[in-house]
Amino acid sequence: MSPRSRVIGILAGAAALVLAAGGVLAYKYYKRPGDQKPYIWTKHWTTLYMDPVYLGPGTSFGVVVRGGAKPWSRTEGTDFRFLVSDQWSPGGIGHLDGENDVYFASLGYYTLGACYVNDDSGKFVLNPSASGSELFDCDVAFNNYVVFWAPGYFNLQNTAAHEFGHALGLAHSEVPGAMMDPIGDFGEAAQFLHEDDEAGEVFLYPPPPGGGRGFPPPAIPLPTKAGTMSNLQVSAPQVMVGDPLEFSARVSNTSGVQLLLQGVETAPVSTGTFEPVVLEPGEVREVTVERTVGGLPGDYETRLRLGGYDPTAVYLAQQTLLSSLVRVRRPAVALPIQDELSGSLGPRGIETVEVFLVKGESFLLDLRGAP
Ligand SMILES: [Zn+2]
Repeated sequence: MSPRSRVIGILAGAAALVLAAGGVLAYKYYKRPGDQKPYIWTKHWTTLYMDPVYLGPGTSFGVVVRGGAKPWSRTEGTDFRFLVSDQWSPGGIGHLDGENDVYFASLGYYTLGACYVNDDSGKFVLNPSASGSELFDCDVAFNNYVVFWAPGYFNLQNTAAHEFGHALGLAHSEVPGAMMDPIGDFGEAAQFLHEDDEAGEVFLYPPPPGGGRGFPPPAIPLPTKAGTMSNLQVSAPQVMVGDPLEFSARVSNTSGVQLLLQGVETAPVSTGTFEPVVLEPGEVREVTVERTVGGLPGDYETRLRLGGYDPTAVYLAQQTLLSSLVRVRRPAVALPIQDELSGSLGPRGIETVEVFLVKGESFLLDLRGAP
């Protein structure tokens, strides 16, 4: 039951680099104790059951964690897919209920996330007495000390991608820059999967001749044609994290079937609810989406995607404005320390104080007593 966890990198770059036999660094995977074959999901897909409250689809954490699952479903050369459920599995959190529950938990001071990788004998896959034949239950927990996930601290999307990599059968990799590297670095940005991660996934889940194995048919058939989007606009070119931001666009249903648009994805990342829109064949509609800007500062190419139906998020209408950036800034940080220091100024009422910021940068403040 011991988790495979991602820990905090105290000294970036200090992780030991170990060469495997033959001198080649490469991905690793969990092996069945008996025949040494890899532990996989033999159906080539599995479902992640998200905590419906803290990781709901309308929450900023939920958006980011889902972003950690998507890349694994998009790797070329494999047919592996993560499906995402917005509700708990029927039995709630249970380490051996055969459902991959995803949630926040108390993990101490040094662990960002953990994946409890169990096989169908009910044992942790690295337990020598494990005797199952395939993966069975891979719950994923993220540290509920949410300060870790504040902008500029540790990266929840990378941590999610890392833990979900365990959940599909990959062990830790020693390849520098791999998502399956066990160390999460302070201040790192969201990353794409490394080619080593993708090679590991393709090794575990090669598509069969002819392709298409495993991925279950959606409960509702997907429309055969997508809609189109034009005239995308946003209400402001520069916003603060937490500000409202309105996206508007003209959506046309150019297909011969009814389109149900019930999902939203935006750049910059945003949260909020969305009243589903039904477009009849041939219908053109101005759609306005009121959002709240998420907690990832930066310059974004404006994008709006409206999609429907399917837990794998096949988007049906989208537009990206490559030339129109939205700048997201974080609100100014209050420095209450200035008030405390002002009480200790010398008789001239002037003092120079060095203030160390969290990231190790410093600047000088001139403090002057009130006249
Ligand atoms: Zn790990």
